[in-house]
Amino acid sequence: MSDKTITRFAPSPTGWIHVGNLRTALMNYLIARKAGGEFILRIDDTDPVRSKEEYVDGIKRDLDWLGLHWDRVERQSLRLEKYHAAAETLRDMGRFYEAFETPTELDLKRKKQLNMGKPPVYDRAALALDDAARDKLRAERGDGVWRFKLKHERIVWTDGILGDVSIDGASVSDPILIRGDGQILYTLASVIDDTEMGVTHVVRGSDHVTNTGTQIQIMQALGGNVPTFAHHSLLTGPQGEALSKRLGVLALKDLREAGIAPQALLSLMSRLGSSDPVELRVEMSEFIDGFDISRFGSSPTKFDAEDLKPLTAHYLQTLSLADVAAPIAALGVPDAQAEQFWAVTRENITTLHDLKGWWDMFSQGAEPVIADEDREFIAQAMAILPEGPFDKDTWSNWTTAVKEATGRKGKGLFMPLRHALTGQAHGPDMSAVMPLLQVIKARG
Ligand code: GLU
Repeated sequence: MSDKTITRFAPSPTGWIHVGNLRTALMNYLIARKAGGEFILRIDDTDPVRSKEEYVDGIKRDLDWLGLHWDRVERQSLRLEKYHAAAETLRDMGRFYEAFETPTELDLKRKKQLNMGKPPVYDRAALALDDAARDKLRAERGDGVWRFKLKHERIVWTDGILGDVSIDGASVSDPILIRGDGQILYTLASVIDDTEMGVTHVVRGSDHVTNTGTQIQIMQALGGNVPTFAHHSLLTGPQGEALSKRLGVLALKDLREAGIAPQALLSLMSRLGSSDPVELRVEMSEFIDGFDISRFGSSPTKFDAEDLKPLTAHYLQTLSLADVAAPIAALGVPDAQAEQFWAVTRENITTLHDLKGWWDMFSQGAEPVIADEDREFIAQAMAILPEGPFDKDTWSNWTTAVKEATGRKGKGLFMPLRHALTGQAHGPDMSAVMPLLQVIKARG
């Protein structure tokens, strides 16, 4: 066997992917790239009803946007024969059995077990059925589900994040690998894929820990190599509340549309939940070099989407005009003013979407804000404001003239003028703002 590192990100295309999925994708990507290995995008689409092509496209668009480029794509829906062949092997080994309980019956069994203080583990009643009983049930209820017969022994592995994990096989229900309608379930498909594709490292959420236990046994039954597993903690909201319900609003697509920079997302998600500080990094090589899965802890990780804003703002400050020329031109900013526009706005925006508000203000004029006691002062000042276009000296020449004419100085001079011209009490250096101002509504 080659010692090449192979990882995969294996989303089910049943919805838009969110920050929780990103954590998984990123860790798998970074492990592969750091080792000079391979990163597979595996589409887990064995559910023909819930899987949608638009989500497959969405997953690719999101990963592309983040720069998490995959080496190849695999689709489970194209590999069904392999899963059926593996199922046959398990049947031949006596590790696979058909069961006919309805969901209601299973529920009832679970409740009874819980009432008796027992763990709600499937009681393997189906194993006791003889051929005639099975045929009768099949005739009455249709095909049963197929369960993998776990060995009742301890399943142990050294987890990349959780350390030594040990699960008692007897404490887990024999997993259903094929549904009554013949649909292959992820638990089986994933084992076949990971084995055949030579996957060496699997990182996924800690909601998969029990799956890992059963999948290790299936891998062992089929004679496959068991990859190194790591389970990252699940994300919670800023107050520690479960995030699962809100994950829908934390879709990567929505964050992109809100103007969050990919570098901000990668910077946060590559460090959140680890013992290293979150800091803005821009180059993918920095993420790759700085990644170490053993730095991540097992306790739930608090995620606050607000943290993405200062990181985005910080990232935007690092950009040159060439980097933002296209969105600036799209606003209608003339080429001759683009450099000045970016110089003035870059430190005063959270996302690139904020540029529009600035350009609207410069090109259409801001609603002046004038206190009653400043009305006359502003009228006087406007009377001596030269016609545009303005240049870098306009502000100092004009304010010097206004000072002489009115006797005002300091804050009492500058603040009302800024307020009148920009509608804002604070903002960028007015000497730099003046050359961009095309309309002064306060002229009256
Ligand atoms: N399709 C599975 C999921 O999205 C993949 C889990 C795994 O990485 O094995 O949860």
